[in-house]
Amino acid sequence: MKKHNILITLLILGLLGTQSLAIAQKSKKTPVSAADARLATLKKEVVQKIDNNAKMAQVMVDKVFSFAELGFQETETSKYLTDILKKNGFTIEYGISGVPTAWWAKWGNGSPVIALGSDLDCIPKASQKPGVAYHDPIVDGAPGHGEGHNAGNPLNIISALAVKEIMEREKIPGTLILWPGVAEELVGTKAYFTRDGYFDKVDMCIFTHVSNNLGVSYGQAWGTGLVSVEYEFEGEAAHAAGAPWRGRSALDAVELMSVGWQYQREHLDPLQRSHHVIKNGGDQPNVVPSKASIWFYFRHVDYPRIMELYEKGNRIADGAAMMTGTTVKRKVLGSAWPRHFNKVIAEKMYDNIKQVGLPEWSEEDQMLARAIQKEVKAPNDTIGLAVKLDTLGLPIKNPVSGGSDDIGDISWKLPTVTLGFPSNIPGLPGHHWANAVAMATPIAHKGVVAGAKAEAMTLLDFFLNPKLVADAKEYFRTEQGMKQKYTPMVSETDKPAIYLNTEIMEEFRPRLQKFYYDETKYGSYLEQLGIKYPTVRVTSSGGTNGGKK
Ligand SMILES: [Zn+2]
Repeated sequence: MKKHNILITLLILGLLGTQSLAIAQKSKKTPVSAADARLATLKKEVVQKIDNNAKMAQVMVDKVFSFAELGFQETETSKYLTDILKKNGFTIEYGISGVPTAWWAKWGNGSPVIALGSDLDCIPKASQKPGVAYHDPIVDGAPGHGEGHNAGNPLNIISALAVKEIMEREKIPGTLILWPGVAEELVGTKAYFTRDGYFDKVDMCIFTHVSNNLGVSYGQAWGTGLVSVEYEFEGEAAHAAGAPWRGRSALDAVELMSVGWQYQREHLDPLQRSHHVIKNGGDQPNVVPSKASIWFYFRHVDYPRIMELYEKGNRIADGAAMMTGTTVKRKVLGSAWPRHFNKVIAEKMYDNIKQVGLPEWSEEDQMLARAIQKEVKAPNDTIGLAVKLDTLGLPIKNPVSGGSDDIGDISWKLPTVTLGFPSNIPGLPGHHWANAVAMATPIAHKGVVAGAKAEAMTLLDFFLNPKLVADAKEYFRTEQGMKQKYTPMVSETDKPAIYLNTEIMEEFRPRLQKFYYDETKYGSYLEQLGIKYPTVRVTSSGGTNGGKK
């Protein structure tokens, strides 16, 4: 208490928070400068505030989990989260870049301007009861949070609210922005946000994504960027038996494009990833399909090679059209740059991560983890939840192929990191019902609280020390800007594909509504669903699937 009073006195006298003082004191080898001491005190306070808000985090995580909305259709989620932000003093711009479920929530004044982002959407057919270690959907066939996108925005909100309270009281200048990764599973929006200038006046961005450890990395990350494109062929309908010679089949073109790409595949380098689905294969067999479409993701580890792959796709589409006498139009549905994260932010954040550490898992948490790992035949080195903190992620030496996230676009627009937080279980397949099992249980809740602490402490670092923001920008300029020019893969005229997933949500929303979490009646979503935590298979020997292996 006494120390606190001295600090306040020093503050009033204007003796704290200046760069020169901190540097002068460092050069005299004073162990802790006054500015550092103030920062340390405020960090302790912010951690306490987040612990006090753990209940709020649990409610938000469970609530968004229960909405289970697919990309571009996150209407309940968007309304619920923006209402919370609005109630807490944020000014909201709704529907940014023409995306109805997106927002730009702003609080504060002046610089630095720090943006916090996280994804919102879920995975088709991944509906799953939380806390149950085998496939048991809440609504059969419905979407579910099999990627854990229900947790990141709640994390950003509790960290932002705690930091905001301190900034208000201490009169710390700076602006906080909260924005959502709408339709991340379709890499559907972030390139539009950068194209439309939303990040032009933002100094840095902290993105959060569920993981099975608390961690952060810098430099080029593993994985790919991609362009998502639908090829729409158009031919001529005809009676498929009466006058097939009068028809030109758009479905033939789709099939030839699919086959053409599979032949091309042999001659592509192994770092590429490409996959497709047929979106429209015609209506019924006795009508020659006049319209058909095929949807590709073309992925590679760097921008030039993504564009090369895309050009090859276009060539094969043109060839398929020529062979069938149809025409082809292409429509970009999404895009993502490969990710490159900021060293200055990552190193600062990692210092905080070490102070926060991993959550303390209960025996129930571990039992659930081991049981689901056994259920999905997880690799042998994944046993239970993480108990050892990851090291700071370093730039990859040789590119490693894999998934993508359109945070890549933001990371090439301004200094950015992704904070991974430990709300999920290691060794699961990804984009799968199993990845939803932990996402409305104490595992997710504790992981969010730990992540929020690391994020809030990092926010204080950067709001209180503008020099760090300048350093982050310098890294961005020299390591990224000078080496590779960023151009969004979406053109000036492309529009977000906001119609996607409309029909699926129309089908499932009424059935999911009955299961929306009611926090006024139930302490947790597990309680509302009447799930014993954890629920694991009983094996024939009478033991449980969660036994140690
Ligand atoms: Zn994700």
